[in-house]
Amino acid sequence: MKKFSTRPGFVVQAYRYALDPNAATERKMFSHCGAARASFNWAVTWVEASWWQRNAEESYGIPETELTDWRPWSLPALRKTFNEAKKTDPRFAGWWEENSKEAYSTGLANAAAAFDNYAKSKQGKRKGKRVGMPRRKSKHRARLACRFTTGTIRVEPDRRHVTLPRLGTIRAHESTRKLERRIGNGTARILSATIRFERGRWFVSFQVEVQRELERVARPQAMVGVDLGVKVLAVMADSLGEIRHIPNPKHYDTALEVLKRLSRRVSRRRGPDRRTGQKPSQRWIKANEQRNRVHHRVAHLRADALHKLTTTITSEYGTVVVEDLNVAGMLRNRRLARKIADAGFGEIRRQLTYKTKRNGCRTVVANRWYPSSKTCSDCGAVKAKLPLHVRVFDCDVCPLVMDRDENAARNLAAVAAACMTGTGVAGDQGAQAPKPRGADQKTRATCLSRKAEAGRAGGTRLPHQRQKETRDRTQTEALSLW
Ligand SMILES: [Zn+2]
Repeated sequence: MKKFSTRPGFVVQAYRYALDPNAATERKMFSHCGAARASFNWAVTWVEASWWQRNAEESYGIPETELTDWRPWSLPALRKTFNEAKKTDPRFAGWWEENSKEAYSTGLANAAAAFDNYAKSKQGKRKGKRVGMPRRKSKHRARLACRFTTGTIRVEPDRRHVTLPRLGTIRAHESTRKLERRIGNGTARILSATIRFERGRWFVSFQVEVQRELERVARPQAMVGVDLGVKVLAVMADSLGEIRHIPNPKHYDTALEVLKRLSRRVSRRRGPDRRTGQKPSQRWIKANEQRNRVHHRVAHLRADALHKLTTTITSEYGTVVVEDLNVAGMLRNRRLARKIADAGFGEIRRQLTYKTKRNGCRTVVANRWYPSSKTCSDCGAVKAKLPLHVRVFDCDVCPLVMDRDENAARNLAAVAAACMTGTGVAGDQGAQAPKPRGADQKTRATCLSRKAEAGRAGGTRLPHQRQKETRDRTQTEALSLW
């Protein structure tokens, strides 16, 4: 299939709006999302049926050449078969016409992607965790979403309504002026629209090709090192010597007291039980909604704070240096997981990456084994050990005494300075980047010995100590740019 590429000067971005559908439209939206799930499940069953069939035939000793053919899982193939099957299949007959064809396409496209990911992962062509076989989605747990790629997709000129195929015109909860204005003056084109039920309300997100100028950064030559932490969310040290602290808002921790009370109320009422088929009482539903609202509020507060933080950083500095934190690994620490998840380290890095790119700037990621906390930001001496509870960095060689996180942030800023010299292109000067004192060698040794200690009680390890070495690294890779 031909891959979509944007015109020069254009970027693809999303415009997301909350919707206020009326009861009739909302029913249709639920129906569309359910249809997407049903067609996904149909595709998974249909493709896998041939696998089971082949397994069975092999067990009877049928020769390889006479086995049932594999069923293809490409989107066109799935669509073609589905369009024939839906008319006769009792699972679809009688109701499939109520929904847009895009609803079924959503499910089929997702299934095709899921099979692709599974196949690539199995062949080792896909990064990240192993992907399992696609599984059918449960009515009780599946996320509700449906994507429209063709048909009437429009933002109405009154800036208060959007129009989608089959669903008709839906009132938007907020003004759509930012998108409508761009479409009006021809600097934006809608590619697709996705409706989604999330946190108790409906959203539409438009995928839009937008003509964008690079945004001007306040100090394009300046570099900033960002050290993320739990005590203080971020410590920023820039190349001009200024140090700033961003306090950790701790939204979830703040809400815990309220959540405790509301959860207690929920558990005292008669909830649903799928084993006995017990339906939840009205009082339980009401209490559960109250509790969910607190969770949703926390999520919204966090999203807002993170966006504000990353926008401030990227609108000021030309180069941002962050650590390559092993967030998934840290989340496995049961004493830290809640706080790490609340802080949203992974999301900060994701947002910094795309926001710097949008401004024509760069994000540099310090190597996972770069000892930013253990290096002296003045003389460069590296401590062998610096446990997490030691909050002050006291250099053994020179008289520097400094807050631990400030020291780390200064080191990160220096990382950028070191690799920006010369051509000014990050990465190509990698060989001249500060040598992480052969840190990989040392930490590899400690890592192995630590693995031997079973059940180390509650110790928090620095990310670069935790991670097992999975591949060979060269010195030039000490700094990577993306
Ligand atoms: Zn020193």
